[in-house]
Amino acid sequence: MATLSSWTSRLLDLLLPRLCGGCRRELAHDRPDPLCGECLRRLRPAAAPLRRCGNLPVWGVYVYEPPLSELIHAFKYDGRQGIGGTLGAWMAGFMPLLGLETMDAVVPVPLHPARLQERGFNQSAILASAVAASAGVPMLDLLERHRRTKPQWRLGRQERADNVRGAFRPALRAGAGDARGLRLTLVDDVCTTGGTLVECAEALRSAGAASVQGFVLALD
Ligand SMILES: [Zn+2]
Repeated sequence: MATLSSWTSRLLDLLLPRLCGGCRRELAHDRPDPLCGECLRRLRPAAAPLRRCGNLPVWGVYVYEPPLSELIHAFKYDGRQGIGGTLGAWMAGFMPLLGLETMDAVVPVPLHPARLQERGFNQSAILASAVAASAGVPMLDLLERHRRTKPQWRLGRQERADNVRGAFRPALRAGAGDARGLRLTLVDDVCTTGGTLVECAEALRSAGAASVQGFVLALD
């Protein structure tokens, strides 16, 4: 859904000098990446890309640390929506390596409608659409966040679990799609305790999904 703020953010992406999302140095105009060469080389692939969060397997590409953590912050909170395409392409690029290509559909972790209105875009949906395109499957908005939650990064471990408990449910709106019998890949930007992904997976299983795995850009 394109909102006024997402259009404004795209316009700003085009007009402002492009700064490296890691070190804020100015980037060459023809540089496709949102990081300078030096920061790009500092990205560290996760040594153990598979994490178990309860009964949910979660795959992650990179370690959540600077400059990637700064880049993700710029993407989500500074409205630099254009960064999302690159981050999604990085995730897609790792899929063959992780053996992550067998799935029926990709599901983004949803934002609460009020948060979506504020931000203008769902960062997880931008990543998920790149993952879905790479796997040759549809992206389905099968979930909704029906309770507003606090940002997880502000909370301690136990508070995080409480914060998101029961916050997600199968999407009720017409045309949302049907999870029954599908092998689903849930996509989010960062996995810390896995609380959000575990709650989302629970909602998808309750809607009849055959299997659920998580896939994130960064493991914290
Ligand atoms: Zn840099």
